[in-house]
Amino acid sequence: MIEKMKFLQLLNVAQKANQPFHEVVLVEQMLEDGSDPLEMKSKVRSLLHTMLEVAEYNYGKVQKTLVGLCGNNAYLLSLYEPKVMSEFMHTAMVAALSVAEANASMKKIVACPTAGSCGVMHGMIYALAKVMRIDEDRLVNGLIVAGIFGDIIAKTVSISGSVAGCQAEIGTAAAMASAMIVYVLTQDAEKSSHAAALCLKSLMGLVCDPIGGYVEVPCVKRNAVAVAVAIASAEMALSGIKSVIPFDEVVEAMAKVGKSLPEELRETGHGGIAGTKTACSILQSLRSGVVEEN
Ligand code: SF4
Repeated sequence: MIEKMKFLQLLNVAQKANQPFHEVVLVEQMLEDGSDPLEMKSKVRSLLHTMLEVAEYNYGKVQKTLVGLCGNNAYLLSLYEPKVMSEFMHTAMVAALSVAEANASMKKIVACPTAGSCGVMHGMIYALAKVMRIDEDRLVNGLIVAGIFGDIIAKTVSISGSVAGCQAEIGTAAAMASAMIVYVLTQDAEKSSHAAALCLKSLMGLVCDPIGGYVEVPCVKRNAVAVAVAIASAEMALSGIKSVIPFDEVVEAMAKVGKSLPEELRETGHGGIAGTKTACSILQSLRSGVVEEN
C-alpha cells in the first residue's frame, strides 16, 4: 500500500487532478507497487461480496463461540424493537454483533481492518446495502476510501491492539466505517476525513483488555458501540461539522497515546476489563469448564 502517504497529500493530488478521490487512491497505489487499478478494484469488489455474504449468513444467529462468553448478543438485538435508534443503526449494530460473534466462533469473516474489529465494517456495509440500498459501485468506492484511511493509520500507528490498544483496532474500524458512510453519500473526501477524525478522537486511548486474551469480552459488544460512534461522527461531518484537528494530526496523536499505554492495557489480558473481579472469576470458571453464555 501507499508508503507514508498522508491524507492531506492525497487530497491535494485529487483536487489538483480534479479526479474522484477513490480513483486517486488506486493510481497512487499503482505508482507505489505497480498494482493494476482495475485489478485492485475488482479485488475490493470481491471483498465487498464476501462481507455482505458473511453479514447475511450470520445475521441475528445464535453462535457457539470459542469460550462461550458471547454468542447470543446478535440474536437478542435482532429480536428487539428499537425505541430510539434508526432502522439503519439497528441493522448495522445487529450485523456488527453477528459478524463479531462469528469471528469468536472461528467462522469465516473478512479481517477488515482486523478480526477483532471486523463487525464494524461488515455491519456498516450491510446496512448501507440493505437499508439504504446503496448501489454496488458506490459501495466499492466507499470501501476503497475506507481502506486508505485504515492504511494511513496502519502505517503511522498500527492496527494491532497489542501494539497501540483497542483505539488501533476498534478505533480504526470506526474511523473507516464513518469515512465510508460519508464518501458513499457525498463522494467528498474532505468531509470523510472529518468523520474519521471525529471518530478517532472519540475512541482515542481505548485500551485492549480482552478477558483471558479471548476476543469475546469486551470485544464483541464494542464492535456494536463503535458502529454507533461511527454513525454519529458521519452525521456530524455530513452536517458540516469539522474536526478542529485534521485527520493526519489526530493519527499522530493516536500514535503517541498508543506508545504511552502500559503493557497490561495492550492485549495481555491483565488490565482494564480483563483485570476486574468478575473477569478473574470468569477465568476461574473457564478453567473448571463452567461458563454462563451471554
Ligand atoms: S479489546 Fe483488544 S482484542 Fe478486543 S477488539 Fe479491542 S483490540 Fe481487539
